[in-house]
Amino acid sequence: MVAIMVSGREWMRRGLCASGAYDPDMFFDALREELACRVCDKCPVRDRCLQHAVEEHESYGVWGGKTPAERVVLTRRWRMVQEGRTRRAHHG
Ligand code: SF4
Repeated sequence: MVAIMVSGREWMRRGLCASGAYDPDMFFDALREELACRVCDKCPVRDRCLQHAVEEHESYGVWGGKTPAERVVLTRRWRMVQEGRTRRAHHG
């Protein structure tokens, strides 16, 4: 897969979920999360999508190949890394 870097919200139109090839409701259906994540794995804007979901605190649906529960874990880990960096910067 080749990642595509696009600015603003242009990336959303490049997502496989917007291609018309897949049922868009699948990405907001807890019973089809696994299927949606498999589509995301092939999506050229996956990283950008995940970044958006984390930054905007998207609570529902599969974004960037991650379920809401997986994004909570990712966000917690990211915060711990950031806090560790801040602490090290302050204490040398
Ligand atoms: S990563 Fe998934 S949810 Fe995000 S744009 Fe691509 S297909 Fe859609």
